[in-house]
Amino acid sequence: MKLALISDIHGNLEALEAVVADARQCGVDHFACLGDIVGYGADPGVCLEYIKNLDCIAIIQGNHDVYAADERDLASFNPLASRATIWTREQLTVEQRSWLASLPLQALVGDDVSLVHATPGEPESWAYVRFHDEGFYAIQAQTTPLCFYGHTHIPMAFHLADGDVDQLDDGAYDLTTGERWLINVGSVGQPRDGDWRAAWSLLDLDARRLDLRRVEYDLVTCQQKIVAAGLPPRLAERLAQGR
Ligand code: ZN
Repeated sequence: MKLALISDIHGNLEALEAVVADARQCGVDHFACLGDIVGYGADPGVCLEYIKNLDCIAIIQGNHDVYAADERDLASFNPLASRATIWTREQLTVEQRSWLASLPLQALVGDDVSLVHATPGEPESWAYVRFHDEGFYAIQAQTTPLCFYGHTHIPMAFHLADGDVDQLDDGAYDLTTGERWLINVGSVGQPRDGDWRAAWSLLDLDARRLDLRRVEYDLVTCQQKIVAAGLPPRLAERLAQGR
């Protein structure tokens, strides 16, 4: 089975469409969405319906999804995220917001794959896994040999073998090695690793390998929509920088 792992779409329809087209070309059987469908981008409702209608075997809840779903306090969000969330709440229907609220924080695929938005062990903490020490603790907490996550928008991998944890960023991983893998699948709609192109990961469960893929999309249209919606222009600018 080939799975397309997609995460952190953030209302970027142009990037989502480009990623789905690339995944279909790669012959994926199903999709799995690791959360943050909405927030920042100009098409939260359209992206939500698009994901709902995609053949997803799991759809995980991200922090932006849950903050857009209800009226909870936004004190923990930075000013840009906060403004975008208030705007996103106004765009979504009551049904769309309750659908976001109903999403699970984690899911299992078979016996050996777990999916989460932020971090295994305590996904509701929305902690970030970016550095070696964070990956070291997170990989101990996972309950399956393979775990995939998003949230930081920076693709990377942590590999546990013989008690040691290595941090890798090659984007191509042989999952038959070692005891555990914890892998960030990259961000579809707002990459932050300096590459503006949409990111997603192709998981081949039979060959037991994972490949990060990058896809160009219609950045200009996406940026124009953000500005036209009255969202902070910085949210359009940062897309070009991949930050
Ligand atoms: Zn995100």
